[in-house]
Amino acid sequence: MNFPVSKFRTLQTPFYYYDRRLLEATLDTINKEASRYPAFRVHYAVKANVDSTLLEIVRQSGLGCDCVSGWEIQACLKAGFQPDKIVYAGVGKSDWEIRLGLEQGIACFNVESVAELEVIDQLAAEAGTTARVALRVNPNVDAHTHKYITTGLSENKFGIAMEMLPSVIAKIKTLSHVTLIGLHFHIGSQLLKLDPFTMLCARINKLQDEVEAQGIRLRTINVGGGLGCDYDAPDENPIPDFADFFAIYADHLRLREGQELHFELGRSVVCQCGSLIARVLYIKEGVNKKFMILDAGMSDLIRPALYQAHHKIEVLTSDSSEVTRYDVVGPICESSDCFGENELLPTARRGDLVALRSAGAYGQIMASNYNCRPIPPSIW
Ligand SMILES: *Cc1c(COP(=O)(O)O)cnc(C)c1O
Repeated sequence: MNFPVSKFRTLQTPFYYYDRRLLEATLDTINKEASRYPAFRVHYAVKANVDSTLLEIVRQSGLGCDCVSGWEIQACLKAGFQPDKIVYAGVGKSDWEIRLGLEQGIACFNVESVAELEVIDQLAAEAGTTARVALRVNPNVDAHTHKYITTGLSENKFGIAMEMLPSVIAKIKTLSHVTLIGLHFHIGSQLLKLDPFTMLCARINKLQDEVEAQGIRLRTINVGGGLGCDYDAPDENPIPDFADFFAIYADHLRLREGQELHFELGRSVVCQCGSLIARVLYIKEGVNKKFMILDAGMSDLIRPALYQAHHKIEVLTSDSSEVTRYDVVGPICESSDCFGENELLPTARRGDLVALRSAGAYGQIMASNYNCRPIPPSIW
């Protein structure tokens, strides 16, 4: 990526830099590849990043949005998304969040338990309306990703177990203020191999037959998100392979006449368009190592500390032709505040600018005020 380094030199670090052109190119690719299949509809999983400019660009591209909190629904409404393009998932929806969704007439509540169904039915009755719901089913498919971002195994807290589906559907038939419109799935995030998605299709095919045997016709199948991006080689693979991803579903899922297939893509939409830009504060000589101490840390980008994730580190301003091994760390008082060990980088000095690449998803949005640090701003 060509960073506007001379502009960066004038700015206070750390900040998130977003590349509008790459985001737009990614959205164009998504729309082009999805439009090969008339039944496909793509939502953006806004939990990956709610920067207001970013949301505006996503909205203009025509995608809907997938929310996991009432605050996210508010952010999407503020960004101008129509309620009929908003879906809402989450294992723990508060009453005010459900009421907000009902008042606004959002497209669908993705429901994760019978307890929640009963509350939605009651709140919808109070509001004098009927809620459209999809049941989030846990398909027990192993996403082979980090355990904190695996969501489709029976042992995870998400979704309704497959074997409980018939009884939940029987229950829905007794509720007068919810209408079952679909099934919802989301097996995990940062999947680089596509076989778990193929497996998911097989599960869904079987479940659809069972649901239809209970006399239910579904308007939508929602398969969530999960497509990963290339953190090791962001310049070689700036846009994930959406063609292959959509083709898996086109080839393996048996959709019914008139049925829509919904996707909720988060990371794959926004990951590569963002970088966290920091300055080198010090090069510290250890006994056996050199530490590159940045002015950005885990409060700004927590993925390395939380998921043992690795973001490619690029020194943007070094004029040295030599390389040095560094442990690249932040200023926070935690040993997990480390972006990389033994990184072979151009020899750097105090004041050099560094980019932590592929930080557009689950970066700025997961930033915290730990150590009283401010949330890094956005630069476009
Ligand atoms: C997080 C989430 C997504 C998006 O996942 P990505 O891996 O970022 O694509 C989609 N659907 C639901 C329900 C989610 O919780």
